[in-house]
Amino acid sequence: MARYIFVTGGVVSSLGKGLSSASLAYLLQSRGYKVRIRKLDPYLNVDPGTMSPFQHGEVFVTDDGAETDLDLGHYERFSGISAKKSDNITTGKIYNDVLKRERQGKYLGKTVQVIPHVTNRIKEFINNEVETEDFVICEIGGTVGDIESLPFLEAIRQFSNEIGRKNTLFIHLTLVPYMKASDEIKTKPTQHSVKELRSIGIQPDIIICRSERTIPLDQRKKISLFCNVTIEDVIETVDVKTIYEAPISFNKEKLDERVLRFFKIKSKKKVNLNPWKKITKLVLNTKNSVNIAIIGKYVELKDAYKSLDEALTHGGISNNLKVNLIRIESDKLKPSDVKVKLRNVSGVLIPGGFGKRGTEGKIAAINFARKNKIPFLGICFGMQMAVIEFARNKLNIKDATSSEFGPSKASVVGLMSEWTKDGKLMKGTDKDLGGTMRLGSYEARLKKDTKVGKIYKSLKINERHRHRYEVNINYKKDFEDKGMIFSGLSPDNKLPEIIELKDHPWFIGVQFHPEFKSRPLSPHPLFSSFIQAAKLYSKK
Ligand code: GLN
Repeated sequence: MARYIFVTGGVVSSLGKGLSSASLAYLLQSRGYKVRIRKLDPYLNVDPGTMSPFQHGEVFVTDDGAETDLDLGHYERFSGISAKKSDNITTGKIYNDVLKRERQGKYLGKTVQVIPHVTNRIKEFINNEVETEDFVICEIGGTVGDIESLPFLEAIRQFSNEIGRKNTLFIHLTLVPYMKASDEIKTKPTQHSVKELRSIGIQPDIIICRSERTIPLDQRKKISLFCNVTIEDVIETVDVKTIYEAPISFNKEKLDERVLRFFKIKSKKKVNLNPWKKITKLVLNTKNSVNIAIIGKYVELKDAYKSLDEALTHGGISNNLKVNLIRIESDKLKPSDVKVKLRNVSGVLIPGGFGKRGTEGKIAAINFARKNKIPFLGICFGMQMAVIEFARNKLNIKDATSSEFGPSKASVVGLMSEWTKDGKLMKGTDKDLGGTMRLGSYEARLKKDTKVGKIYKSLKINERHRHRYEVNINYKKDFEDKGMIFSGLSPDNKLPEIIELKDHPWFIGVQFHPEFKSRPLSPHPLFSSFIQAAKLYSKK
């Protein structure tokens, strides 16, 4: 039977629960155990797919087509395990399921209530498809004390009772602030947060204390005494210089050791921290750098392009370079400013996006990168914009556009109403916005002797999608006659998956999101190649 580790957070949000869970997953895996990580989100959206990145950061997409919380990206990048639809649930999804069952009369006339119906559904989710796992790590979103988190906390309390206390470990992550005025580290917020947790019936077994500075022994003792955990289970996590250091620092603090001790099991293998040590050293010591411009609507918000930022860093790691991200807000980018704004960059990246706002700036930047032979990578919306730019300026279709921006006669990018998946015909809809796109992993076939064929070293690839519109295949010949090759297509040859330019050192657009599959320990080939091209460009 799987052992369960529940990770809750206290005092403030954004303490790094995701990173802590992901690091612990890596450490347990490295010790020879099979691990699964899950996230329970307390908001009422059914999934984060319809939320603006300003609200909740990036929407991460899994192979099996779920639109999930960005923490699942952390999990994948650190543990190497591909997350599934069943690894992220929200209050909205739970209520949706419960209400559907109620309408179907499945509760046999009973009054449907938070306890037991909602909590039972949460427990089902926690316990679903984990027969072969040694550990299931469940991160509870939000902060203890929030009204919204209560059903989740109640559910994990019940769950622990049912499967036995010795099979469930509760980790509570809190903030231990440093007060400059009194030059002191304060433990009171942690005490209050644990008190809150205990009032719900959950006694944490391990407390991870996030702090700016090392927590002195006296303060640790205080936390141990007031929060009712042994001193060895008060684990500090002092801000790391790079996130790749996190598994090393948690291991140093003996987090994985304490977890195994709690469950009374031994390590099967010696933990291997070498890959993280290597990456940390590289990231911290690399002197050379390249500037990459990211032009998008949400660049102001750090987490809006989380996987993309990570994938670019990974591309830098494989080229022994630091990647400086020059974030340019597309709304504010006037076509006349492009030359000045892109003066010092060695690569231009247009990420995924939705809606017309800011597109003219993006198109002008693509035009500049194409003409000046600056390496260019267009992702999803970025590829669609590259196609529009090319249609306008090389094919002379002056009003070329996407039907996403309204009806037009010159939609080189159009709404896709049908596509096939695993031999089945899928249909799009323009009624519901959530969960109705072409989502998840799809195969693409690459053309021989193309740039992407060489980069992937394979002619058959699988990449993750999240879009509603497609480049219109009927324009293929016109584009190819002018030098834009459709170098990747869906297996039925109907959907353009990749475009590239013949007479440009590195100009590639992809309809999918390669950033979701890049990992620090195995950087995505497209990003490694893009950064390599940027490096060459910067030496010119
Ligand atoms: N808005 C575009 C579409 O729906 C692109 C989406 C994206 O970049 N993820 O097709």
